[in-house]
Amino acid sequence: MIDSAREQGLETEAVIGLEVHVELSTHSKMFCGCRNQFGAPPNSQVCPVCLGLPGALPVINGRAVEYLCKTGFALGCTVSPYSKFDRKNYFYPDMPKNYQISQYDMPLTTGGSVTLVSGRKVRLNRIHLEEDTGKNTHAGAAISRSEYTLIDYNRAGVPLMEIVSEPDIGSPQEAEQYLSELKGILSHIGVSDVKMHEGSLRCDANVSIRPVGTQRLGVKAEVKNMNSFRSVVRALSFEIERMRECTRVGQPIVQETRGWDESRGVTHSMRSKEQAHDYRYFPDPDLVPLSIDAALLERWRLELPELPDSKRARFAAEYGLSAYDAGVLTQEAGDAAFFEAVAKASGDAKQAANWLMGDVRKCLQLHGLTLSSSPMKPAHLAALIAMVKSGAIGGKAAKEVCDELVMHGRDPQDVVGERGLAQTSDASAVAVIVDAVVARNPESVTAYRGGKLKALDFLIGQAMRESRGKANVDVVRSRLQELLD
Ligand SMILES: [Zn+2]
Repeated sequence: MIDSAREQGLETEAVIGLEVHVELSTHSKMFCGCRNQFGAPPNSQVCPVCLGLPGALPVINGRAVEYLCKTGFALGCTVSPYSKFDRKNYFYPDMPKNYQISQYDMPLTTGGSVTLVSGRKVRLNRIHLEEDTGKNTHAGAAISRSEYTLIDYNRAGVPLMEIVSEPDIGSPQEAEQYLSELKGILSHIGVSDVKMHEGSLRCDANVSIRPVGTQRLGVKAEVKNMNSFRSVVRALSFEIERMRECTRVGQPIVQETRGWDESRGVTHSMRSKEQAHDYRYFPDPDLVPLSIDAALLERWRLELPELPDSKRARFAAEYGLSAYDAGVLTQEAGDAAFFEAVAKASGDAKQAANWLMGDVRKCLQLHGLTLSSSPMKPAHLAALIAMVKSGAIGGKAAKEVCDELVMHGRDPQDVVGERGLAQTSDASAVAVIVDAVVARNPESVTAYRGGKLKALDFLIGQAMRESRGKANVDVVRSRLQELLD
């Protein structure tokens, strides 16, 4: 197929399927009572079960099952009341038992889909529940090879769901849209903190290319080690181009697992792809098959909160937001709730959106914060909006106050009082300043009256400087026009 594509000089298209691993934010691990918490000292959250000591028996975490079923309902999947757990056998020190408990032929959900902003529908194959592995850190002084490996088993046994898509994604940008949409939905249901940089959302991609207009899938590579949305886009772009180059020079594409090297910006061959039979799956004899009561499943379905797509539509209708603003503000459940609180407290949804999408966002990004990690309170941002609208402070001062809110969670009243940022809208006080400026600058007055309208800006600037930025600029302008016109 590739050869004929080359002979005919056909354009090729990318075919991408994603396997997304999501750590569930349960209190305890998947099969034992150890804490499920990121960032604890290495090997401090382990027990005989997650260390795989002889005789230890696993017990299924009901909350993890609930979270997976709710995810299935949110994504329109068929949730199966009957499933089972299987052992996936492999020998690698990140799994002390030498097998991982996963689900092989009876996943908890099948089907479902994710709709992208482009309108494309990405079908899901399945979502299954498994346990996470430990974390290896290759260390030591040698440059190209590490001298030794440190293993942290805190992560071993953390509940993990694997969301497998069909190969319905057509470009690296669509892959990013898919992840972003999925992240938003998971954040709204509250089943995971979906932090890619902490590894609670991880993604592997199956990539192949084929001539445009054909249906048969080409030989695929599985790309691993992508640690951010940006690296997903970069890695997939590189891999697709690498495959196109292979077909151009007549080199066969081989099925393999390739690792993404963030610093070099390339993918490299890791190993030839394993087949399922290499893992010798069999039902875990320590766990009885899972059977979920129909009434319980129905309760979980009814407990689902409002999801991003309906929230987007509501924000547009209820608050008059643009599709873009509504999209950004509903990406994370916490951000959406923050916006609604500010909109309600200030009574001005448009300004709430403008501040959150503008100065607040800039300040957050500058300091590596997010709305949820910033100490800012919705009531304080609403108060700031009210101060600007009433003319109590000017635009420049408002930006300064905003930074204090975002960084230190301070009350805007306190910041304005402490720094003397209050603006003078008092007409008689402003008139004194403006009159003095006019008296000192007769040539600008003459120029303005002679048709040079720019002279007015100069006079406004002088008056603002005179008032050390505290005069209300609208009051200054109207007093000047009153004097000159
Ligand atoms: Zn444990």
